[in-house]
Amino acid sequence: MNLSRRSFFKLTGATFAAGALAEVFGPANALAADAVPELRIKGATESPTICCYCAVGCGGICSVIDGELVNLEGDPDHPINRGALCSKGSAQFNIRNVYNPETGALEPNPYRLTKVQYRAPGSSEWETKDWEWAIEEIAKRVKETRDANYEATDANGATVNRCEAIGNLGGAGLDGEECYAVQKFARALGVTFIEHQARI
Ligand code: SF4
Repeated sequence: MNLSRRSFFKLTGATFAAGALAEVFGPANALAADAVPELRIKGATESPTICCYCAVGCGGICSVIDGELVNLEGDPDHPINRGALCSKGSAQFNIRNVYNPETGALEPNPYRLTKVQYRAPGSSEWETKDWEWAIEEIAKRVKETRDANYEATDANGATVNRCEAIGNLGGAGLDGEECYAVQKFARALGVTFIEHQARI
């Protein structure tokens, strides 16, 4: 075949254009597009939230369809995390929902506790209680323990104003201001054993 330089470029250009068109409109591409699953957040209502796990306070977005949480991810507009979540924060979605390992269906997390669980001293059984009962009981026992063990002075007569029968352990779900209020409350009772578990 006798091909001039101009003819060569015409031929290769036409071949490239045909290939590109086939790539865009061809059957293979149509099949690939058909295979793309629908976004699970399509049509969802988005609500901002704050991670429940630690005092860093990363922002998230909850996507809800028909009252059901379908997705939870980092909020790219949040100034603290800018869309990123640590491994624990990324798993918040599974507090409420889990995927069934056999069917793949989204289901309510069967292990999620939504009611107060109480185990009496010496008992091996958990009882379900309501919040009113739990709050009353905690207040009553703290008051009794504090009143029974409060020391204004030690054995040498030095002022101590303390209660060593109660310990206070903070949790990572508390933010800085809540920790401040909790430790102030504990110190007001005379509690000296104050500790905190922060973050993961
Ligand atoms: S647990 Fe992780 S995602 Fe949640 S607030 Fe703390 S650092 Fe952020």
